[in-house]
Amino acid sequence: MTTDKRANMSDMTTESDLIIADILAKTKTIAIVGASTNWKRPSYFVMRYLLKHGFEVIPVNPGAAGQEILGQMCYASLSDIPKKIDMVDIFRQSDHCPPIVEEAIEIGAKYIWMQINVKSDEARTLAMNAGLAVIENRCTKIEHSRLSGLLGLGGFYSGFVSSHRAPVVPPKQPARDGGLFKTTNMDTLAVHAGTRPDGATGSRVGAIHQSTAFVFDDADHAAGLYNLQEPGNIYGRLSNPTTASLEQRIAALDNAVGACCVATGHAAQMIALMPIMAPGRKLIASSRLYGGSITQFGTTFKNFGWDADFVDVRDADAVRAAVADPNVYALFAESLANPDGNVSDITQLAEIAHEVGIPLIIDNTMATPILCQPGKFGADIVIYSTTKFLSGHGNAMGGAVVDTGNFDWLGGRGYPALASPDPAYHGITFAETFGKLGYITYCHASALRDLGPTLSPHNASLTLMGLETLPLRMEKHMSNAAKIAHFLDAHDKVEYVSWAGLSKSPYHELAKTYFTFGFGSVFTVTLKGSYEEAQEMVQRCNLISHLANVGDTRSLIMHPASTTHRQLTEAQRSTAGIGESMLRLSIGIENPDDLIKDLAAALDDIK
Ligand SMILES: *Cc1c(COP(=O)(O)O)cnc(C)c1O
Repeated sequence: MTTDKRANMSDMTTESDLIIADILAKTKTIAIVGASTNWKRPSYFVMRYLLKHGFEVIPVNPGAAGQEILGQMCYASLSDIPKKIDMVDIFRQSDHCPPIVEEAIEIGAKYIWMQINVKSDEARTLAMNAGLAVIENRCTKIEHSRLSGLLGLGGFYSGFVSSHRAPVVPPKQPARDGGLFKTTNMDTLAVHAGTRPDGATGSRVGAIHQSTAFVFDDADHAAGLYNLQEPGNIYGRLSNPTTASLEQRIAALDNAVGACCVATGHAAQMIALMPIMAPGRKLIASSRLYGGSITQFGTTFKNFGWDADFVDVRDADAVRAAVADPNVYALFAESLANPDGNVSDITQLAEIAHEVGIPLIIDNTMATPILCQPGKFGADIVIYSTTKFLSGHGNAMGGAVVDTGNFDWLGGRGYPALASPDPAYHGITFAETFGKLGYITYCHASALRDLGPTLSPHNASLTLMGLETLPLRMEKHMSNAAKIAHFLDAHDKVEYVSWAGLSKSPYHELAKTYFTFGFGSVFTVTLKGSYEEAQEMVQRCNLISHLANVGDTRSLIMHPASTTHRQLTEAQRSTAGIGESMLRLSIGIENPDDLIKDLAAALDDIK
């Protein structure tokens, strides 16, 4: 060891620090000579610290031989210890050191460490002549914690920087059941799923891993990651630990096998379809979809060679006829449609899709997993715009693709992206190699890698925080929506309210079947008036915001015919159920009386 020749440095220099760091990194077993049974003694403090930080520590003290100190058997002398010792840490007066060093040389120790105020020229010379490294007048605990400043402990600056991963110390006391807790309760999962205290720092709230790339331990580790043989992070376009926490939490809430989070809801739709679609393949989608989805499927996806037909999913025969086309590879609908509250009969759609061997994809953005878990009713893939209720505060774009694990990608109409060898990954077959995780693995390893709509770690963190209160917020959204829908329904300037909670709604029974509670808080209200009067009403609201979003804590209003659905033809608008004097409301979590007051005043002004 070249460094050990320079080991005797008692002043604080960079070199001596490096030697200490090297010695502490290579040391596994430490014999503490002069270990005390008295918890107030420095040797006890040091021993406790070293044990806690992953060292094996053996106390040596003739006065305590045969007793345990901190659970470790104490020996009378170094030569009594029945195992190999790397370091001898001395808590004795300086003139007692030479015979201890002689014994340390005999048992094959590599390092002599003399604590603060313990110094001996004779002991040092003995040790160095025998090739041992020596540290004098220092404390193992102080030096270790100072140099561990690299781990972010204590606010000490170690004096060093490093490109190597900080070591994680396994706990000495294994927790009960491996520290794990099992629950299926949504309110607990919303707070806890996917995030546990950080191994290196103990941080309780998950960190924002604002890092583009992740270090490899060595060449073999790098190869394992690139071959998808080993799970882990390579480059932020494919995966990120903060985003992974979010993916786990969303998958937990949907009782699913996994999720892939991406930059927006629209990106989620694109990524969800990548493993399924190919040029010449067709998608059947509900004609009552969110306007943006109709444009994405009906116009832009055509450039990928992906075809789409829209059908009224209330008409089972029409859906059955549409999916009979052998070029159709997926059926897509919303559990609760944005904006008019159409509720899909998920069980029926799943049956129709599965009869011909294609997956049912459900956009569950409006219902959220709190009202509805589509996988329970047979949906295969669930997608979200997390921009809406899931993040919930109108401050983070995002999307999620969730695999319920229900669909057999090796069967059905044929899904070669998952069921045949992938040349971009030296011939692995995703659905075989990764089993039930094949679809989500493909979403990350191929679709995200090659298309790149990656979620930012900061937005992942905001969404994780938003999810913690999702169950609470949904309760308030639902109860507010009920009050406002009833108020509007009884108003003489209102023609129609689409909220599914009203018994006259054609979707009332379906909503009761599919939703655990509530009927959504995004719905439309059609005024007894013109296109212009509807625009005017929006302008007259002073509490409710006029903007293009839904699922915010704030209540929102807009006029779809002149905004979100403006790009659609009048015929498309009419099939999508968008009337000229129709307004879209997204009811927030404010005081419901205030919201009613604002709406009442805005309506009163209409002549
Ligand atoms: C907003 C929305 C989308 C698109 O999500 P973005 O995050 O805006 O890309 C898809 N589906 C539904 C139902 C939505 O409300």
